[in-house]
Amino acid sequence: MQELVDTLARQRSLGDEGLRALLESPDGETVQELHAQARAVAEERFGKKVYLRALIEWSNVCRNDCLYCGIRKSNRSVHRYTLTRGEILSACEKAWTQGLRTFVLQGGENPPAALELAGTVAEIRASWPEAAITLSLGELPYDTYRLLKDSGADRYLLRHETASPEHYARLHPAGMRLESRIRCIRDLKALGFQTGVGMMVGSPFQTPEDLIRDIRFIESVRPQMVGIGPFIPAKDTPFADQPAGSADMTLRLYSILRLMFPNLLIPSTTALSTLLEGGRQAGILAGANVIMPSFTPASRRADYALYEGKSHEELPIIEQELTAIGYGINRNRGDYSEN
Ligand code: SAH
Repeated sequence: MQELVDTLARQRSLGDEGLRALLESPDGETVQELHAQARAVAEERFGKKVYLRALIEWSNVCRNDCLYCGIRKSNRSVHRYTLTRGEILSACEKAWTQGLRTFVLQGGENPPAALELAGTVAEIRASWPEAAITLSLGELPYDTYRLLKDSGADRYLLRHETASPEHYARLHPAGMRLESRIRCIRDLKALGFQTGVGMMVGSPFQTPEDLIRDIRFIESVRPQMVGIGPFIPAKDTPFADQPAGSADMTLRLYSILRLMFPNLLIPSTTALSTLLEGGRQAGILAGANVIMPSFTPASRRADYALYEGKSHEELPIIEQELTAIGYGINRNRGDYSEN
């Protein structure tokens, strides 16, 4: 079994059978070896340092009705908000002062509001020329993506959620199509965004084959970032009573991707640390190299409830957690680089 880890590390890929064996192996030693080799690759490339991204949850207004998501359109119990330009700029200011060099604006899918946000993006760009700006605003027309890029955005996160069209159809309402998500990912790459894809682990109806398809999809797209977290049920959604995904499987995927793509930016996600005590550290020790602390105004955090119990850790705690495992913070922008 452990030879599989060596083969994956050497070839930077593995056949479907091998991937499946690593995802499902009951052998604790193999899993430890997988994490150890992934950690070694990350350390060789990045040192024992983690990049930070300031997550600013810009708006929970959304036109979509994804069955898993707590801020889906038909969830009437959500109190909807959109941060003002002033609130966004003060969140950036706070993050900059604390030494963060990437601002991530994330929100529900709302094309007219996203178009308007371009002005704020330009203002952030002018105020902090050395910061990276990442957006995560869902599927938008090509021209809107282009405007946002021209306004100064550098990166864009658009998880594909699942690379299997049949599985995609069971997680989303009729009318949402994997094809259009993929069209957006290609647009973003073509426009020169550093682009992130990703999926939930253990979303309802997911099979091991689906995860292998996700890995093949990532191989074909070659994104700069991959965000992966366990599915966590959200109340007042159709999946409220579904079981959460597996933290262990999430960690194995971080390690597999680290061995396949040594330079990839892989966040140790909030969903992982929500599900697993010490999950943020476990993610780093499995090969992740990014943490995204929240800089959403405290009064709005409860309203951006994608899932139950979503944790929001402050920077000093994150720093302590990293110190405890012998890691520290890299205060550069942390752009993707091939070498
Ligand atoms: N509207 C943007 C941002 C979505 S929220 C977009 O469409 O890209 C960011 C991510 O949260 C989603 O891509 C999804 O993978 C994740 N997410 C949503 N609901 C979740 C849940 N119940 N459990 C775990 N992750 C969830």
